[in-house]
Amino acid sequence: MPPRHTLAHPVTATGTALHAGVQVTMTCAPAASGSGIVFRRADLNADIAALYSHVGETRLGTVLESGSAKVGVVEHLMAATAGLEIDDMLVTLDGPEPPILDGDALSYLILLESAGMAEQGEARTAIQVVRPVTVESGDAKASLLPDDRLSYSYELSFPVIGEQFYQFAFTRAGFKAEIAPARTFGFLSELEALNKMNLAKGASLANTLALDATGVVNRQTQRFADEFVRHKILDAIGDMALAGAPLIARFEGRKSGHATNNALLRALFSDPANYRLTQA
Ligand SMILES: [Zn+2]
Repeated sequence: MPPRHTLAHPVTATGTALHAGVQVTMTCAPAASGSGIVFRRADLNADIAALYSHVGETRLGTVLESGSAKVGVVEHLMAATAGLEIDDMLVTLDGPEPPILDGDALSYLILLESAGMAEQGEARTAIQVVRPVTVESGDAKASLLPDDRLSYSYELSFPVIGEQFYQFAFTRAGFKAEIAPARTFGFLSELEALNKMNLAKGASLANTLALDATGVVNRQTQRFADEFVRHKILDAIGDMALAGAPLIARFEGRKSGHATNNALLRALFSDPANYRLTQA
């Protein structure tokens, strides 16, 4: 029976918030067994549990909400947390989002690894999907299907990028090598409009793969030819981590995003016959 894990020591990082564009300091710290991942807005004196049921906006990143307090763009940090199989952790922020760092999950993963892992007294519980659950919205589709092992596949189609498909059977080493380095991406043609809405104000060529009509502008920073589809799997892993416990299922996504991912978890948990709790 694998135990729950938390960090051995606190670790801190400072950087730019992707949307708000402000400097944010984040401290990830050990937490009591069973507490799960909790975000603390130190500037607002508010705690928000990292659970699908607290997801509000999903348009350009997954936003957790509790009352008037929000934490945006949690998915990359949540993916790193899932990739390291961390169960309990307190994430304290002095601003509205974790710092975006390199726009990937690897920069969080390396930070969390530097903290070291500590075993908790309790065993890890997993959520085993026992009935297929699918959500569709327009041409976006996401499914959680019964399987013995956790895996992710994703199919994307974007202008300029074309079509990409990737399949990933979850292991910690595989996550670090294949998925965590994949960086967020965006279209330069949308940037001005986003900035006017106070979004993507912290986006830069250092933290985002930028696309124009001809392709990737900052190609020298690209890490994989299929980095885009790998990043969509990274996002899905982060969003599925909001289940509150590791899943045992096969995730299949097609043109889906944060909204579909959240709808998928809400659909999963809407009927207790869809899943059962088991040893991880
Ligand atoms: Zn992302």
